[in-house]
Amino acid sequence: MSHTTRPDGIIIALDGPAGSGKSSTARAVAARLGYRHLDSGAFYRAITLAALRAGIHPDGWPRLTPDQLDRLDVHGRPAERGYTMTIGGQDVGGEIRSYQVNAHVSRMAAIPAVRAWLMDALREAGARGGLVADGRDIGTVVFPDAELKAYLIADAEERARRRLREQGVADPPLEEVRAEAALLQGRDAIDSGRETAPLRQADDAVVIDTTGLSFDQQVERIVALARERCGVDPHEQIP
Ligand code: C5P
Repeated sequence: MSHTTRPDGIIIALDGPAGSGKSSTARAVAARLGYRHLDSGAFYRAITLAALRAGIHPDGWPRLTPDQLDRLDVHGRPAERGYTMTIGGQDVGGEIRSYQVNAHVSRMAAIPAVRAWLMDALREAGARGGLVADGRDIGTVVFPDAELKAYLIADAEERARRRLREQGVADPPLEEVRAEAALLQGRDAIDSGRETAPLRQADDAVVIDTTGLSFDQQVERIVALARERCGVDPHEQIP
């Protein structure tokens, strides 16, 4: 039994800068605990993709109204272990990870009306607990009462290397790593500097530097914290 009154288990919040391994770690931790994974970045990415596809110029994004956001028809459909993002009822697949979306998503995510619009969807998704949610403001704003909060950091070039590997570049040359690191740092600067829900560590978060850790080690660190601090049994399953 876990230490919570939520019906499906605790909420684990994983925040940190771009490329710190939050999403893949969150997915693996969720699988270990029988929890669901909520990738909040995917919601911001899907809205960005929908606005780009609809041909709305980024300069006009700050003026988007809730009605217009509704009409973009972006949804996170609960799936067995997470959420599938759809636009107009169609699964968005890998297109939310495209260069175009990477280049624009932080601009979209800095808009207060967009964040407010998404907040309800994210909180509703987490209402029952049994969730590992990752993002930038999960422990500070979306689920400030999460039972476990971890803040993942890693060296910028290491984060860039991981991103490039994810995109299928097995052994990226240094210039490519540096260019990717500069892009990630640009995104971090917008995410940390924005007025609404900036990227920052929650006071009660455990900081985990993943630079020297293997993927399995970082997953294990969080599973161990969930067990030690919150009494979560790694074999707990969603009923
Ligand atoms: O996590 P990921 O890199 O997919 O997130 C994409 C972008 O979405 C981030 O750079 C950030 O601008 C935004 N984001 C956010 N708040 C979150 C999750 C993501 O602002 N909770």
